[in-house]
Amino acid sequence: MARTIIAGNWKMNHGPKETQQFLSNLSDKYFDKPNVEAVVCPPFISLPIFQEKVPKWLSSGAQNMYFEESGAFTGEISPKMLADLGVKYVIIGHSERRGLFNEKDDDVNKKVRIALKYGLIPIICVGETENERDNNKTFEVVERQVKKAICDTVKETLKCLVFAYEPVWAIGTGKASSGKDAEEVCEKIRGVLSSMGDLNQANEIPILYGGSVKPENLEEYLSQPNINGALVGGKSLDANSFSELLDLAG
Ligand code: PGA
Repeated sequence: MARTIIAGNWKMNHGPKETQQFLSNLSDKYFDKPNVEAVVCPPFISLPIFQEKVPKWLSSGAQNMYFEESGAFTGEISPKMLADLGVKYVIIGHSERRGLFNEKDDDVNKKVRIALKYGLIPIICVGETENERDNNKTFEVVERQVKKAICDTVKETLKCLVFAYEPVWAIGTGKASSGKDAEEVCEKIRGVLSSMGDLNQANEIPILYGGSVKPENLEEYLSQPNINGALVGGKSLDANSFSELLDLAG
């Protein structure tokens, strides 16, 4: 059975000062549930202060990285740098990266492979657009994204992955997917993973749902057999709502 993960994706919010404020607001909240992991992914510039002040029960993640180790790539951050800082997770292939910054399945694959090389755990985002859903392409799109993201990775590394199913139309819109619809896609993702490795390995991979998650709907997702947690944008920005989500998990 996969572990449960509640991961906050701050996107382009919370610089170093606000990050410190978030952590101090969180300081009276202690979270300790053996099978639930809490993760926050701040912007790059806030990661060092986050790493310095973060309580032991909370893990850190980056929101992106480049797929080269070093070199002439102005403005980019490498997996080696993230690993040096002690960052544990890295979000890869978020739909905002795919849509606004033109990231392709091939880029996602390169990032996944190098993240694994540096011991970073990729949180691989997949999900269909509204248009794709309306044209009954959801399964096809998600299957392609999953397969391409991990092609040419060795079977043994499957256990080091996390997936997030984030329908693009549900992100930041308040229009969350129903638990049943999200479960159908997450079940499909697990099936694809199982066909690429084996069922036991696939069952160990956390598959998160993301898209307008809030305290009021989190339990609907967590009660589904193939959903192991949530990737949360808006409701992870405030220490109170984030810890409310953690309290509901597990
Ligand atoms: P949201 O974002 O919770 O604000 O919809 C989720 C995400 O983009 O990961």
